[in-house]
Amino acid sequence: MRIYFAPAVADALDRTTRDLFGNASSVHAFGQQAKAALDDARSAVAALIGGEPSEVVFTSGGTEADNLAIRGAAEALEPMGRRHLVASAIEHEAVLNTLKALARRGWRTTLLPVDASGIVSPDALRDALADDTAIVSVMHANNEIGTVQPIAELAALAHARGALFHTDAVQSIGKIPVDAGALGVDLLALSAHKFYGPKGTGALWIRRGVRLVPQLTGGKHERNRRAGTENVPGLAALGVAADAAHRTLDESAARIGPLRDRLEEGILARVPGTAVNGARSPRVANTTNVSFDRVEAESLLIALDLEGVAVSTGSACSSGTLEPSHVLRAMGLPSHRTQNSIRFSLGSGNTEAEVDRVLDLLPRLVEKLRGLTQGTRAGARA
Ligand code: PLP
Repeated sequence: MRIYFAPAVADALDRTTRDLFGNASSVHAFGQQAKAALDDARSAVAALIGGEPSEVVFTSGGTEADNLAIRGAAEALEPMGRRHLVASAIEHEAVLNTLKALARRGWRTTLLPVDASGIVSPDALRDALADDTAIVSVMHANNEIGTVQPIAELAALAHARGALFHTDAVQSIGKIPVDAGALGVDLLALSAHKFYGPKGTGALWIRRGVRLVPQLTGGKHERNRRAGTENVPGLAALGVAADAAHRTLDESAARIGPLRDRLEEGILARVPGTAVNGARSPRVANTTNVSFDRVEAESLLIALDLEGVAVSTGSACSSGTLEPSHVLRAMGLPSHRTQNSIRFSLGSGNTEAEVDRVLDLLPRLVEKLRGLTQGTRAGARA
């Protein structure tokens, strides 16, 4: 419910900002110190996801990694006549809007449906694949409901038709084991701020032998795959965060899972008219998404925020109207539930006492908001 910046990460950021002023591409000693820091970070990321350091390309975060994967693959495979792109309907905007942008430039796109528990069925992918499919992109864990997709099975289907497979693992890294080899993917995106690293840093893992067209052109940085002087302090800190995520994965999942379950069971028991979205699927341990009947999610978010509890909604407010969550809509939830759902994400700093405080607050806040809605409706009728 609250995310902390790990002290070791902050120290690395601070230390490298002060001490590592060299450019990692320079041959002088200062440059080589910066390069060594990048090498360490690259090895830490590779160890975290079971890849080789040379397969890791640093980016400015998950959005850029997703863009490089999809645009890079689409452009690399276009000369082979592969002009079809596939993604799940519940991807993050970094993927969905990239597909939309490529569709405007002539690529054919297919969005895969999900079932009521938020899972992509292998049959749906089998039906969508065509001889000219260039790339399939399905996220490992969803950012709104936490559901984990059957990536290995989906990747094998894509490969059988000669397509590449990308997974956005931004939400699964640090929460469940992520092994690029075992998942059988070609491309895997990650973002440091989801595992207590600095915002604005991330990486794309590119399986050796996979060719992408670089999306940032310029110098020969990142083995010609992403031009631009690297953000050495940010990436050194990403490396420290990756190392910590790797070492503490089991421990943090074992601690956070029961807290999430306590929160979820407590809400269902104490607040009438609630339901957990995606509950029957395999999920990452830190996320729960709950619908509150007759409550506008945004109002509950604000009421909780005033009490110092940070939650989020999948709905986005655009031009004054509340857009329902595309994820919950794809799961086939009725429209009122796509607009009255709240996501609680637990972090390593959260405690049982904090969960209990939320459980004490919620019945009162929800009752108050329902009373207000009823009052408004009665007023409107009068
Ligand atoms: N993909 C997923 C699933 C995400 O949850 C996010 C961010 O929340 C992103 C991509 C984008 O990552 P970034 O914020 O590092 O650009």
